Amino acid sequence: MKSPKRLVLVLGDQLDLNGAALKKLNFETDEVFMVESIDEAQYVWSHQAKIALFFSAMRHFARSLRALKYPITYIENTPLSIVDALKEKLQQDNIGRLICIEPGEWRLKQQIEKLASELSISLEMCEDDHFFCTHQEFIDWTAGKKELRLEYFYRLMRKRHNILVDAEGNPEGGQWNFDQDNRKPYPKKGPGMVDEPVLFEPDEITQEVIAFVKRTYPKHPGSLEAFRWPVNREQALEALNYFVEYRLRNFGVYQDAMWTDTPYGWHSILSSSLNLKLLNPREVIAAVLTAWKKYALDLSTVEGFIRQILGWREFVRGMYYLDMPGMAQDNYYGHERALPKWYWDGKTKMACMKDAIGQTLEYGYAHHIQRLMVTGNFALLAEILPSAVCDWYLAIYVDAIEWVELPNTAGMALFANGGRFTSKPYIASGAYIKRMSNYCGSCQYKPDVRYGENACPITTLYWNFLIKHRTQFESSPRTRLMTANLKRISDEDQGHIVAHADQILTHLDDL
Ligand SMILES: Cc1cc2nc3c(=O)[nH]c(=O)nc-3n(C[C@H](O)[C@H](O)[C@H](O)COP(=O)(O)OP(=O)(O)OC[C@H]3O[C@@H](n4cnc5c(N)ncnc54)[C@H](O)[C@@H]3O)c2cc1C
Ligand code: SF4
Repeated sequence: MKSPKRLVLVLGDQLDLNGAALKKLNFETDEVFMVESIDEAQYVWSHQAKIALFFSAMRHFARSLRALKYPITYIENTPLSIVDALKEKLQQDNIGRLICIEPGEWRLKQQIEKLASELSISLEMCEDDHFFCTHQEFIDWTAGKKELRLEYFYRLMRKRHNILVDAEGNPEGGQWNFDQDNRKPYPKKGPGMVDEPVLFEPDEITQEVIAFVKRTYPKHPGSLEAFRWPVNREQALEALNYFVEYRLRNFGVYQDAMWTDTPYGWHSILSSSLNLKLLNPREVIAAVLTAWKKYALDLSTVEGFIRQILGWREFVRGMYYLDMPGMAQDNYYGHERALPKWYWDGKTKMACMKDAIGQTLEYGYAHHIQRLMVTGNFALLAEILPSAVCDWYLAIYVDAIEWVELPNTAGMALFANGGRFTSKPYIASGAYIKRMSNYCGSCQYKPDVRYGENACPITTLYWNFLIKHRTQFESSPRTRLMTANLKRISDEDQGHIVAHADQILTHLDDL
């Protein structure tokens, strides 16, 4: 005879007191269950700050639950996986009913479903209401579509949720997308005074976790010295309010800009709080809309920011669940090379890679263009095995959870799914990085040189990529323009580029 108790599982990225599963808890009979799994933190070779953030946020959340008198079992530092710890608990207490919010990660969802069926217990998996779009709504939207593009999905979301649209459903300001206004580099002299994001000194719980992570994961990449992430709801709200008050105004225009020693630029730094569910995307968008009116902010900045949350964040989650598990194996170009060693320590002569990876190791953070057009661009041009690149992104960013990391890396940065939701590969030469940053000024390579001793490896590999895939690019109207500039490079020079690229590709660790 099973116990009448129901177990409410709360995962480390479901830290919302109003979460759908917790709402179902009966204080008299049920129990909350949380697990800090050492195994889970090692399953990917995670950045120390990522492990610390998850564990600290979980412990803060458990403390809030205890203060509110929730009955809770919290397992600290178990060597068991989440599912094995759960199994042990269910069996020990002879529990027959499990409630949880659907895990963001496909693998974990399958494992929990399998466990429930293996133990013959009832499983109630609630929809995660931290998203605007349900899985079914996304599937319905894809029906009959030849091409799955963010832009059309985003317009639907704007209309459906009545965000930046007028009474007739037309876009605020007469256009749906102000992306063209949001691609400026910083002024030649640099970004000037950037309002720093609000950062949080580690409290007692976080200090304890940091000490534990240092002891338990000493060989894992990254540093804990600069750990200042929001670890609870109050801090996450403070970070949101600070962002909309002081930093949102310049977010749009400099969204793509990069500069040394400016790790955050004008970005929001809210992804980890959103992904841990310390913040709800609805309140983030509401705060941005309020600030827009209150401070008469540019519509382009407000639209640009909302597009990231209501558009991209929802879209990649929809694509992840639609295309898993295949998405994790996609390798459109058949790339097989190993990830260069310096991705893990930042010791490379390329100034752009050194800066983007260096700040990643220091903070567990790089902004979108650094991820897409620096580290991602290089990995695609250098023909790195997509799963190795995805493992790196999943390990190294504090906001990395597979549902958002994988579609961005495999789908967007690496074109590993052959353009399922992007019209062409995101590739660029050193000229783009020179235009958008100050990196090239301090680099030993020259962004405009295509081959030879001083040639920028990114530029060489870019042209090599176009030469290699020329026929394919020219066969599609979507990519034909990309090879047009090749016509201006003589056959002899193209031969030099290919030979130099060959050298680079066989000695990637030496760059
Ligand atoms: C190769 C690659 C890997 C990425 N991996 C992750 C990841 O593991 N986790 C993650 O949260 N984001 C990921 N992103 C998306 C994006 O780079 C980060 O969300 C963003 O840099 C986080 O910083 P921010 O909070 O300052 O974002 P802002 O630039 O201030 O943007 C605001 C918010 O919009 C959302 N957002 C913006 N772009 C995207 C996007 N492309 N997909 C989904 N949400 C988006 C985030 O929630 C973010 O907090 C990845 C992008 C690339 C190109
Ligand atoms: S020259 Fe090339 S490698 Fe050096 S910083 Fe510029 S783009 Fe990067």
